Amino acid sequence: MNRRFDILVIGGGVLGVTIAFWISELYEVSVAIIDRENSVALHTSSRNTGVVHRPFYLDPDKRGFMARLANISFYMWRSLANRYRLPWMEIGVIEVATSPEEDRVLRKYESWARRNGMDEDEIAILDRRDVAALEPEVRCYSAIYSRRDTSTHFGVLTNAVYMLALRNGVGFIPGCNVQGIVAEISGGRYRVICRDRRVYEGDIVIIASGCGSLRILHSLGMALDYGELYFRGDYWIVDPYFGRRVRRNIYRVPKRRDFPFLDPHLVVRYNGSREVGPSATPVIDGYAYNSPCRGLGGFLDFMYGRSVYLKLKAVIDPRFIDLARDEWMSSVSRRHMASRVATFIPALDQKHLVGRGASGVRCQLIDRGGLVLNPKVVVADSIIGVINYNSPGATGAPAFSGFLVYSLASEGFLDGFRERNTYRHSDLWSINSILEGVKERSMKLS
Ligand SMILES: Cc1cc2nc3c(=O)[nH]c(=O)nc-3n(C[C@H](O)[C@H](O)[C@H](O)COP(=O)(O)OP(=O)(O)OC[C@H]3O[C@@H](n4cnc5c(N)ncnc54)[C@H](O)[C@@H]3O)c2cc1C
Repeated sequence: MNRRFDILVIGGGVLGVTIAFWISELYEVSVAIIDRENSVALHTSSRNTGVVHRPFYLDPDKRGFMARLANISFYMWRSLANRYRLPWMEIGVIEVATSPEEDRVLRKYESWARRNGMDEDEIAILDRRDVAALEPEVRCYSAIYSRRDTSTHFGVLTNAVYMLALRNGVGFIPGCNVQGIVAEISGGRYRVICRDRRVYEGDIVIIASGCGSLRILHSLGMALDYGELYFRGDYWIVDPYFGRRVRRNIYRVPKRRDFPFLDPHLVVRYNGSREVGPSATPVIDGYAYNSPCRGLGGFLDFMYGRSVYLKLKAVIDPRFIDLARDEWMSSVSRRHMASRVATFIPALDQKHLVGRGASGVRCQLIDRGGLVLNPKVVVADSIIGVINYNSPGATGAPAFSGFLVYSLASEGFLDGFRERNTYRHSDLWSINSILEGVKERSMKLS
């Protein structure tokens, strides 16, 4: 196996794989994806709700950039899924209001949908009779219906992009849990060191390691103003006999709108099964899928790692304590989770929740101002790190990554690499369609 590459991408989730794809599509370079696992997309990219979101619920003033990327990416994922016959169920989302106050939020969503580039005919405001006609089990005051939201399996989509990247010549280095990166004194290269002491070299290193990114950046002295909190999304599987009575994804206007989470919803999975969730249960590390903490290491890292002050400040906030109590209850008690969903699907009872789905962890960035809403790209010399790449991150990945690679090129990071004369997959995904859809000229790199 070659140990020297022009560019190393650490992280084989949807973000790292799409970044590697775009670099290899646009430039004649040697690129490799490094992952601690033996295949791609084993963490958050497969442990999520699996909804290709339409961006009606994203405030264009605060999250407009992600909303536009999600909008563009929707059509990119759709072309990929159609071409390779991948899971794609365009069933739509009904988001319900249970009071006049929540109804006002839906009216806002209607205008946000337009501002975020959605088509007029994709969105409709429904009254409770319209909702009952579409979904007889749902009770509400009013609702917004977004017709194109789609259920898929992002792990399968990521693997399809990975295949295209391999065809472009991208390499994959499995089983390398990156412990550190050191700059060579001469030659301007970086040495990426795995836990088992293998070493790989690259001129540019891109850190797209999901819940592992901030730790690697901190070890390099980067992003020191940030800390991270972990929220686990737990799901409960719905009894298929009951589940069949609901045909679309059903959400409710979030109760706590100062947190960037959606409240538990009923979701139709790509294979037709139904689940309710996710909760947003605070846990102590980014891979604590079955317990509050994977082990002593995770606990010590939380307590004695960097930004302890930021983390403690966030967790003693009474709003956080209130959230933690509620979300932990939904995680451990099916009765509690069922009662939350029963506020809009009253026939759903705890006896209909027959098992647990696969949990996923959201790594939420915090700074002095509290929770950070959008992803951040931090740069030092030729190291580029992406942090806080959260929902609707899987939806937005094809356009986010394409625009990131374009922005790195505009800033001169890719000078010296030859651009390809022809793009191999331009009939599927085109960089120009991304550039036409974003307003910004370049991504903010800090
Ligand atoms: C509960 C939940 C529900 C969600 N639902 C949706 C949804 O419905 N729609 C949507 O669009 N988005 C959703 N999201 C968000 C979406 O899943 C994420 O934004 C996206 O998957 C992040 O991808 P990633 O590649 O950054 O991270 P990951 O998929 O976690 O990939 C990171 C990779 O880096 C590797 N890695 C980490 N550390 C190291 C290291 N030290 N050395 C080597 N490799 C390393 C890991 O093994 C992993 O493969 C959801 C998220 C959660 C938590």
